[in-house]
Amino acid sequence: MIILKLGGSILTKKDSVKPEVDFKNLNRIAIEISDFLKKYDLKNDGLIVVHGAGSFGHPYAEKYEIGKHFNDKEYSNKKIGFSITHNSVNEFSSIISKSFIENNIPVISIPPSSLIKTSNKRVSYFNLDLIKEYLSQGFLPMLYGDVVLDDKLKMAVISGDQILSYLAKNLKFEKIILATDVDGVFNKNPKLYDDAKLIEVLNSLEELDSFDSTNVDVTGGMFGKIQELFDLADLGIESRIINAKTPNLVKSALKGIEVKGTLIKAKNHQ
Ligand code: ADP
Repeated sequence: MIILKLGGSILTKKDSVKPEVDFKNLNRIAIEISDFLKKYDLKNDGLIVVHGAGSFGHPYAEKYEIGKHFNDKEYSNKKIGFSITHNSVNEFSSIISKSFIENNIPVISIPPSSLIKTSNKRVSYFNLDLIKEYLSQGFLPMLYGDVVLDDKLKMAVISGDQILSYLAKNLKFEKIILATDVDGVFNKNPKLYDDAKLIEVLNSLEELDSFDSTNVDVTGGMFGKIQELFDLADLGIESRIINAKTPNLVKSALKGIEVKGTLIKAKNHQ
């Protein structure tokens, strides 16, 4: 069984202030997945896709400050913000589904807000039953970064990366692939520094800290991602970050071919 995360950075114009799909990347990746599935038995082996929210989620979640404490007077505005954010990421997932369906992929997009609850932004409830049922019938379940009810904060944002991490801990997977818009984890942000070096195997978060701290830039997305992946690595679950902008890399990684990227694995599990 494989779990594939498609980053918001690859499927949307993430810096855009309004939601914008990167159709070129989306349609190419849909074809790559479809090609892979020609020789893969979804019913016996299984594949789950998790996608990020990108510019369909972040602008709204930020505007309405979802996940921050608020008082009762702000509740109705917060609820509308929650609805707007969910509706936007849900629409995004429909667009991805449409592209998958056009390529004959039996995808079923499942809104995490209907299955998941968090407590202080971490999963406290996750109903896996339907996902397991869809998998056993040969569907490709697709989940995504969404807003969810939170026991402590009333509402929160859940990242695709946290969903991936939960699925990987609670279902049996052979391969975990995260496709993003850079080649993997670098010693510093490759978009800001031309001399950033790709780390092919990352064994611990400390390893990143050991770089000159003024140069290490793993803030935001990449840092959160690595933290989730080290949670998995500690349990002996390896994951791979690859660049989905490079044609055929997603397809090759799905096939199990060693491709350029960063392998995240804990040292004591080598
Ligand atoms: P996605 O949306 O694909 O899940 P994110 O946008 O959350 O991905 O994270 C990927 C981004 O993280 C890259 O585009 C890059 O600009 C940034 N980044 C910051 N620090 C690093 C680093 N040390 N190595 C790789 N990428 C980094």
